[in-house]
Amino acid sequence: MNQSNQLELHHAIKIDADKCRACTHCLQVCPTEAIRIRNGKATIIPGRCVDCGECHRACPYQAFYVEQDDLSRIFDYKYRVALFPAVFVSQFPENISEEQIYSVLKQIGFTHTCEVEQPISVLIDSIKDFAQNEYDSESPIISSFCPATVRLIQVKYPALTEHLVLRNAPHDLAAWYVRQRLAEEGIDPSDAGIFYITPCAAKIAAVKSPVGEKKSIVDGIINMSEIYNQVMAKATGVTGNFHSCDCRNEISREGILWSLPEGEKAAFDGKSLSVDGMHNVIRILERLEDGDLQDIDFLELRACEEGCAGGIMMTSNRFLTADRQHKRAEKFPEAKSSAGMEELAEKLRIASVQPRPMVHLDTDMEKAFAKMEKARSIMCHLPGIDCGACGAPSCLALAEDMVRHEARMTDCIYIQQLWQKEGKISAEKAFRNLEKRWGENRFDVDCSKRGAKNDNGFGLMNEGEDADLY
Ligand code: SF4
Ligand code: SF4
Repeated sequence: MNQSNQLELHHAIKIDADKCRACTHCLQVCPTEAIRIRNGKATIIPGRCVDCGECHRACPYQAFYVEQDDLSRIFDYKYRVALFPAVFVSQFPENISEEQIYSVLKQIGFTHTCEVEQPISVLIDSIKDFAQNEYDSESPIISSFCPATVRLIQVKYPALTEHLVLRNAPHDLAAWYVRQRLAEEGIDPSDAGIFYITPCAAKIAAVKSPVGEKKSIVDGIINMSEIYNQVMAKATGVTGNFHSCDCRNEISREGILWSLPEGEKAAFDGKSLSVDGMHNVIRILERLEDGDLQDIDFLELRACEEGCAGGIMMTSNRFLTADRQHKRAEKFPEAKSSAGMEELAEKLRIASVQPRPMVHLDTDMEKAFAKMEKARSIMCHLPGIDCGACGAPSCLALAEDMVRHEARMTDCIYIQQLWQKEGKISAEKAFRNLEKRWGENRFDVDCSKRGAKNDNGFGLMNEGEDADLY
């Protein structure tokens, strides 16, 4: 049952090395310390990355991008389904109607449209069933909706995986639901392609290597910002004679709000907590690990602030999107009963989620402890200021990299200065070390590109002229 846990994790977040300036902003924000600077470029350690997108948000040079399928791939299929979450609709300004949005999606080339959260009642009942009949660990259960938080738990809090709700995400459920609807229309499954339009790198990664199941039922993934721009460009010109919008009679208030903070929480009795934003999620998971949250029944976690309204491929402001989403939800009825949809509910079950602990100092426990001791003794010599100038996110991370033979003591610029003063290394070697970490041409700067008069970098630094700079 756990095949997917043994597969290599797919990652949707990539780095364009040409754009990277090694500024370390990403290094500082990564919640799993998955980034290092090597040879003047940021690199991602795959086993640690959870595709949360914090680096993507932090990079001032747009060096991170999100892998996606080309939109033209939809035309490989005779029937083309646009599967999108409610946040997609909510990010458009209020003068663009839902009908215009649906209509333009069909102009772009989709033959069918479906909102991810349409069959939400099936998921609500299935999660309740899991809590009552399958979960036998200590409280609370943790939502598995947000794949970034699921991966975070796997790599950083492996002991908490047993709290995860073993149910598929809404997009997989919706894809099964659409397949059923297409079958009722007499459409051959091989003629239909389901394309998931998402604001979320973690969901792309989860579709490519799903947790707890073999393969996602979705056929392709499209970056939401790309579709948003296309719809925006065409929507204002669309008036009257809208294409009929299929399946929309099943959209519910609960479904529309599901991906926002408190969306899931609202569907459950008992004591629930809703937490959004990676730093808050980390704090609450640490409390749970310490055994603090025994009185909580359900924990809803969203890696992004304002939930999926804050996804990295959302174009609109997250607060405006969430506000429009709440207003839109008021216009829709409560979710219908899931009675009669038992077949769909069966598709929701996933296998247990396996831990993927990120600290692998050694597979042999005894050696791992010895290496941990060694890292501690290295730490004792490091300055402990976590400046990132060594290319690792913290002094401890550098010490662990050293134990793994992936870094050296002289990567620390303080140690380098000290050793130079003590005559342990030459100035030339120290400079070569810097170049190795920060790139050979690091000091070949063209200051005119940064708004200053170009003087080949060092012309300004004449001791007599600029004594106060020395
Ligand atoms: S934030 Fe990271 S990827 Fe972006 S330029 Fe800085 S070091 Fe490079
Ligand atoms: S909150 Fe939503 S958009 Fe953000 S990582 Fe989680 S699922 Fe993705």
